[in-house]
Amino acid sequence: MRVAAGPPARPVDVLIAGGGIGGLSAAFALAREGVRVRVLEAAREFGEVGAGLQIAPNCTRILHEYGLLDEARSLGVLPGSMVMRDAVDGRELTRLDLADLEREYGFPYMVMHRTDLHGIFLRACRGAGVDLITGARVSGYENTASGARVLLADGRADEARIVIAADGLHSVARGLLSGDEPVSSAYVAYRAAIPVERAGRDVDLGEVSVHVGPHCHFVRYGLRGGEMLNQVAVFRSPKALAGEQDWGTPDELDDAFAGTCRDVRAGIPLMWRDRWWRMYDRDPIMTWVDGCVALLGDAAHPPLQYLAQGAVMAIEDGWVLARHVAARRAGDGSIDWRGALAAYEAVRSEHCRRVVTTARAWGELWHLDGDARLRRNALLRARDIRDYSFTDWIYGPTALTPEEEPPMFTPIPLDRADVLGPTGDAGREARARA
Ligand SMILES: Cc1cc2nc3c(=O)[nH]c(=O)nc-3n(C[C@H](O)[C@H](O)[C@H](O)COP(=O)(O)OP(=O)(O)OC[C@H]3O[C@@H](n4cnc5c(N)ncnc54)[C@H](O)[C@@H]3O)c2cc1C
Repeated sequence: MRVAAGPPARPVDVLIAGGGIGGLSAAFALAREGVRVRVLEAAREFGEVGAGLQIAPNCTRILHEYGLLDEARSLGVLPGSMVMRDAVDGRELTRLDLADLEREYGFPYMVMHRTDLHGIFLRACRGAGVDLITGARVSGYENTASGARVLLADGRADEARIVIAADGLHSVARGLLSGDEPVSSAYVAYRAAIPVERAGRDVDLGEVSVHVGPHCHFVRYGLRGGEMLNQVAVFRSPKALAGEQDWGTPDELDDAFAGTCRDVRAGIPLMWRDRWWRMYDRDPIMTWVDGCVALLGDAAHPPLQYLAQGAVMAIEDGWVLARHVAARRAGDGSIDWRGALAAYEAVRSEHCRRVVTTARAWGELWHLDGDARLRRNALLRARDIRDYSFTDWIYGPTALTPEEEPPMFTPIPLDRADVLGPTGDAGREARARA
């Protein structure tokens, strides 16, 4: 891997700022179409947080097309089910049979270590001849007569036909298109990815387990063939709501989960306590392209993580862009770059808008309290577990054009829930009190 110093770089067609999962996957997608690509990563080394990632069929379909799915399978875990439970009483609310889901969508739902997925794309980029440069912080972008230029923090510059900014939530390039700032949700995530023996008890790693509770939730699944346990504990920070700077601290973690069921409480002492992730997204923007500079991944559409689609959307972005680049190559080898960027923006901005806004709503549903929580539970229990009408819009094939984008699901209003009937929570609780 080269660092940003030394002789002038060879010319490339595409510069990508940021070598996260979004940047590397886009680099590989473009390189396999015969495009010359350079990735400029600010960090001294390419890398990812050492925690888990869920990847749904709309991503594994693309990994299959890239010839990377077998490697991903060998490094990840294919859970049998995803089970949602109430975090307070521990009772099951609904489930997805992931073998059936794979039959439905043709590709698996997998969980894997982020480092492993990032490593797959890094190796694929090396194999495809992508120029990978670390220690290169992009501080500015300019359009030129023939394409676009990036300015590096160390004073150097580089240029290409197009520049893709995959520089994450705090994207510098986003400032070309919007004056917006990340939006704080006042929620914070704690993570842990640890050897399974450290769990100190039997944990079912054949399932992705999600406990949803008042202003908190807890996710658990296995990694690396079941050798590792991955946990995510997310809660709303009272200190954030009070406007305090020092929010999301471990004392708040313990308080947030004190009222949850025994299964969830048993997982909390295992969380990493030396770091935590405050949860931000951004309001959707529909313009991602400024001349020959385009946003991709979290730079364009950082979501709250509740649909587990952030990295997946980034991978879809690169796949869609590369398909449009390939489709706009003329007989003489020239490419209509601006046409490709326009086609990319036309389809991805609306899809990602839907995911970002639905993730917010899905998080609100997970975190309900009081009567609304009981209604949510009743609705989820009433769901037919083979009903895929809520996931078709997201897990189906990635659209290449706005016309291919599937319709959204129809939300069910909470007040439709039968909480007072003989099987409803409120009915049960009333009988228990009688
Ligand atoms: C708790 C949690 C759980 C999640 N779970 C899931 C999940 O299960 N499934 C899923 O699909 N998504 C999940 N996500 C979301 C997912 O992690 C992100 O959406 C995804 O990693 C975004 O990838 P990216 O490459 O666009 O951005 P990033 O991962 O942020 O990468 C940006 C890269 O750009 C580099 N960079 C930044 N600035 C510059 C610069 N100026 N110049 C050069 N380089 C720069 C950075 O060093 C970094 O390498 C989760 C997120 C969180 C917080």
